[in-house]
Amino acid sequence: MSAACPHDHVPFVCPRGHPIVPGEMIVSWSPCVCAPSVALGEGRQGHRTYLCLACKDERRTTLCYLPAHVPAS
Ligand SMILES: [Zn+2]
Ligand SMILES: [Zn+2]
Repeated sequence: MSAACPHDHVPFVCPRGHPIVPGEMIVSWSPCVCAPSVALGEGRQGHRTYLCLACKDERRTTLCYLPAHVPAS
């Protein structure tokens, strides 16, 4: 893995350029079994998800995943 973000959580930026900061997002959880999720270990396999409220205001749904979701190839 290269270019991994050294920070364990926010802040970061949504794909449409909005800063994802407390008050500007809804944090949730999505179980997953992709490689980055499994690497978190037993009982933690999944992604923390951040719903961008700035996008929501524009009637778009932008979910950011931490760790980044990697679809199985
Ligand atoms: Zn956004
Ligand atoms: Zn995943």
